[in-house]
Amino acid sequence: MPEEAAVQKINVRCCIVGGGPAGMVLAYLLARAGVDVLVLEKHADFLRDFRGDTIHPSTLELMRELGLLEEFLKIPHDELGELAAEISGLRFIVGDFTHVPGHCKFIALMPQWDFLNFMCDHAKRYPEFNLRMQAEATDVIIEGDRIIGVRAKTKLGPVEIRAELVIGADGRHSVVRQKAGLEVETFGSPIDVLWMRISRKPGDPPQTFGHIDSGRILVMIQRGEYWQCAFVIRKGAFTSIREKGLPAFREDIVRFQPFLRGREQELKAWDDIKLLTVVIDRLKKWYRPGLLCIGDSAHAMSPIGGVGINLAIQDAVAAANILAPAFQRGATPGTIPVIEAINEAISPADGALPAAIAMGLTPALADAPAAAMIAPFSPSLLRSGLGDGSARPAGTASRAAAPARATDTPSQEPTYSSVTEDDLAAVQRRREFPTRMMQRIQVAIQNRVISRVLSADKQIEIPLIVKLLCNFPLLRRIPAYIVGIGFRPEHVGTQDATAQQADD
Ligand SMILES: Cc1cc2nc3c(=O)[nH]c(=O)nc-3n(C[C@H](O)[C@H](O)[C@H](O)COP(=O)(O)OP(=O)(O)OC[C@H]3O[C@@H](n4cnc5c(N)ncnc54)[C@H](O)[C@@H]3O)c2cc1C
Repeated sequence: MPEEAAVQKINVRCCIVGGGPAGMVLAYLLARAGVDVLVLEKHADFLRDFRGDTIHPSTLELMRELGLLEEFLKIPHDELGELAAEISGLRFIVGDFTHVPGHCKFIALMPQWDFLNFMCDHAKRYPEFNLRMQAEATDVIIEGDRIIGVRAKTKLGPVEIRAELVIGADGRHSVVRQKAGLEVETFGSPIDVLWMRISRKPGDPPQTFGHIDSGRILVMIQRGEYWQCAFVIRKGAFTSIREKGLPAFREDIVRFQPFLRGREQELKAWDDIKLLTVVIDRLKKWYRPGLLCIGDSAHAMSPIGGVGINLAIQDAVAAANILAPAFQRGATPGTIPVIEAINEAISPADGALPAAIAMGLTPALADAPAAAMIAPFSPSLLRSGLGDGSARPAGTASRAAAPARATDTPSQEPTYSSVTEDDLAAVQRRREFPTRMMQRIQVAIQNRVISRVLSADKQIEIPLIVKLLCNFPLLRRIPAYIVGIGFRPEHVGTQDATAQQADD
């Protein structure tokens, strides 16, 4: 009989499930503030397509506050100063970003993997940041009414992570929120989206735009050499579209956008067309002791308006502003820093060093020679050089301040956390209003506009709002503000603990 793989145990102050925009930005900010954080991401890389490519002016402003903007804007991107759409042949400007507050008066269109890789590269500069790819959370660990950790499967076997705080940032199909039993309010969505790539040619329209006509909506995002196309369909309609066959689907695209004629053949099989189900929902309570959900895990967003990434990032900033000082309140007798658990994992005595490297645990370690890896991270060195956290500079969390404990019997130990339920409630209070407002707008648009368009069998009449936007250009600033900045823009309130320690 095959032996069951031993469960590897890791303790960390904060375990973030999900390396999307919400998870990576929060991990970066907490590590920067000196909090040990471990991100679990189920995929092997960030190279997934069709995940939304919009970096909003409010996010660009955050980059500026972090001193990263200049470097960030060196990554190839397109700058969208206006949002255009076309209804029944009438092309018009929906939003004019050139007047939004802040330094960048445009939406940066950039593949999401570039954004996530950028955040990851910067987070790796902080020793408190740990990322494990191909680590899929499967359950939460509950003790009493408290979430005390996460179970995950990895390529190298099961892992149990004990944490003072678990963050569910695992998107709209969140396992964390489901396993934690958090109650979800669903608002329904009458649409799904088919994503596909079609090449771009000279003479094509220069910019991203959306087309709306009888029964059909097609958004085409300009990605340099190709268009990333989002074909909006009625919920559940993909089955009947497939039944009609690929040639019929290709013909539908071309009839809608004749300039694509010839290129529809690039859609060779149904595998070239990805179905993304659209959901709008929100947790009634975003937290319970030991757990907080943010981003789509707390409130799944529709692609309407392209606001979900921005909202997820804003949640992360608000959470960091509230949680970093909460972590800073004190060390936690029930936990040890993750780096020490890693040290156990790489102990040459059990020959686990190559395994730890292969697992991608602390990518920074992977490049180091074995001897150099073990010496600087010896537990005694860690303990001797570190205080109890109370002497840390204001605005920074203690760096590896928690006392060392064995990791294999943590449930017999009291689990302490300086992060209280009130802190978690404060994050929900801060972010619920902007989320509700944005979801209300998305639900109104999907029910009043998109459903009507998709069920129309003749040309759509130009709606009054479009006529107003055409005649009163000033009005275009309102949608631009709502999309580009949002209802309660956040600002970075945490400090870089490394910089502060250097100053001291
Ligand atoms: C079709 C479609 C198009 C969209 N287009 C846009 C757009 O253009 N602009 C925009 O702003 N928003 C868009 N959105 C919304 C946007 O994608 C989300 O609101 C945003 O990505 C939320 O970020 P997040 O970090 O909360 O979650 P996600 O981006 O979903 O990230 C979650 C991460 O968690 C990982 N994960 C999931 N489960 C586990 C697990 N069990 N263990 C470990 N890791 C796990 C996932 O692999 C993923 O990396 C779109 C949404 C849809 C459905």
